Amino acid sequence: MKTWLQKLENTFRRMMEGRYGSDQMGFALLAASLVLSLFPYTGLLGMAGLGWSVFRMMSRNIARRQAENRLFLEKTEPVRIRTGQWIARMRNRKEYKYHRCTKCHTLIRLKRGQGERHLKCPRCGKEYTCRT
Ligand SMILES: [Zn+2]
Repeated sequence: MKTWLQKLENTFRRMMEGRYGSDQMGFALLAASLVLSLFPYTGLLGMAGLGWSVFRMMSRNIARRQAENRLFLEKTEPVRIRTGQWIARMRNRKEYKYHRCTKCHTLIRLKRGQGERHLKCPRCGKEYTCRT
């Protein structure tokens, strides 16, 4: 005997057959539209974003949606990489100190608690003395 929850699940599964579903772009659209809908003058824009997100999920043109998502991932790659690196730096901040080279802006990671250290930038070769 099927419970009403299993019936609902089967109905939803049948409804989504052959449809695109969710992806990174859809999730970003959903998040952006939720944020936009919080503010009084951007509420309509938020609703449009929500509509677009639902349209993408229900779409049967999978190749087109995959191409859109690929383009989205390509365009947002620098931001996603920097955000990921920032999160890693925040996570490791008690163990490591991050020092940016003043000449070439390379980020150099140093283990904390080693006192004053003399180091050389691996990219440009500039020499420093810094506290860890
Ligand atoms: Zn450097």
